[in-house]
Amino acid sequence: MEHVGAADLSDFREEVGRWISDNFPVSLKNMANPMSREAMAFPTEDQEIWRKAMGAKGWGTPTWPTAYGAAGLTRDHARVIQQELLRAGAYNPIGGMGVMMFGPTLLEYGTAAQKAQHLPPIVRGDFQWCQGFSEPGAGSDLVSLQTRADDKGDHFLVNGQKTWTSGAQWAEWCFCLVRTNPHDKYNGISLVLFPMSTPGVEARPIKLINGNSSFCELFLTDVKVSKDQLVGSLNGGWAIAKRLLQHERTALAGSTTTAVEAYSLRELARKYVGTDAGGRIANPDLRARIVANEMEGRIFKQTALRATAEAKEGGDVSALSSMMKNANTRQMQQRTELAIEILGHQGIGWEGDSFSETELTVVRDFLYGKAPSIYGGSQEVQYNIISKRILGLPS
Ligand SMILES: Cc1cc2nc3c(=O)[nH]c(=O)nc-3n(C[C@H](O)[C@H](O)[C@H](O)COP(=O)(O)OP(=O)(O)OC[C@H]3O[C@@H](n4cnc5c(N)ncnc54)[C@H](O)[C@@H]3O)c2cc1C
Repeated sequence: MEHVGAADLSDFREEVGRWISDNFPVSLKNMANPMSREAMAFPTEDQEIWRKAMGAKGWGTPTWPTAYGAAGLTRDHARVIQQELLRAGAYNPIGGMGVMMFGPTLLEYGTAAQKAQHLPPIVRGDFQWCQGFSEPGAGSDLVSLQTRADDKGDHFLVNGQKTWTSGAQWAEWCFCLVRTNPHDKYNGISLVLFPMSTPGVEARPIKLINGNSSFCELFLTDVKVSKDQLVGSLNGGWAIAKRLLQHERTALAGSTTTAVEAYSLRELARKYVGTDAGGRIANPDLRARIVANEMEGRIFKQTALRATAEAKEGGDVSALSSMMKNANTRQMQQRTELAIEILGHQGIGWEGDSFSETELTVVRDFLYGKAPSIYGGSQEVQYNIISKRILGLPS
């Protein structure tokens, strides 16, 4: 288990605090983390300055090896960076699927050449990745995927369709599951990588209920993929995909609780519902439900810290990530439902001058709140994993 002395950490904390205050553009202070794929594709000048600074420092991926430009620090140091960012009203601008799931998987399964090629641009935040897993006939039952990769000697020729591919219209690269043996369901899948600019790759955006088009249908027609972009062994992709999905769930489980929140339920309630003579939120039932939701959020954070500690000790937390994902989703959905309730008739706005920026954000957050119980493996599928792997129930 890694252990760092308190004195080392306090020196490091000072160094981090100083560096953030020297480099973080004040115009970005206390902004909600602009980590949506669209925001990352069209950054402002200051957001670019901040991304480049954190990317060059390697602190956006603090525990990854220095060989790829990352910082090679311990988890304790990484936590200090996160705490100091929050304290300064700053955020980690290095993110996306490359950081959340593909990078950690490549560290484990990639060749030396693949790591040297792909990890440095992820560390710097130069390239975004998209995930070509789901297909029209293969979502929860991912192992039924049909997109084919035919062996053509020095390359594969990929044909098929992916769907719900987040950020495909803006990503530079795709990690994609393909069928390399049609006769073996589980042992006939491989993981390949290709640039999104390859001829034959076409991303068509799909409109979401909240008005954004953050994901796409992805059509692949005679896409040439060089054989050196096969990750792991031929037909050995299913085990790698499962590992990658664990990284995804772990990242999603923590995704909304660490970011600077765009609004506070307490402040909204004080403004829209009013306060009693004691200065408390006037409606006691609502007050209790806000407190319950905040408590659940805090309990979740403590459990996440415990899970991280258990993972450091070598414990198997793979099924726990399913529990954490569902718990985080429920807490976040309850939060957006409460926010809508607090706003009353101001909580039905879509656009226009009669609604403030915050009111519109609440509505769109509420609508987007439906997505987390589907992406990264649906809520029911996580319950299946929990019942089998944690409760030991028959499948
Ligand atoms: C916002 C968003 C972003 C996404 N981004 C990506 C991406 O970047 N890349 C990518 O590859 N995919 C992405 N997905 C797809 C996502 O992984 C799938 O939607 C998800 O796995 C569910 O698959 P499906 O939509 O085909 O639903 P289905 O698998 O058809 O499921 C339909 C319903 O049946 C239930 N169900 C299915 N099987 C079982 C079972 N065995 N037991 C109990 N209930 C079951 C499900 O819970 C669900 O309610 C994204 C999805 C969303 C919503």
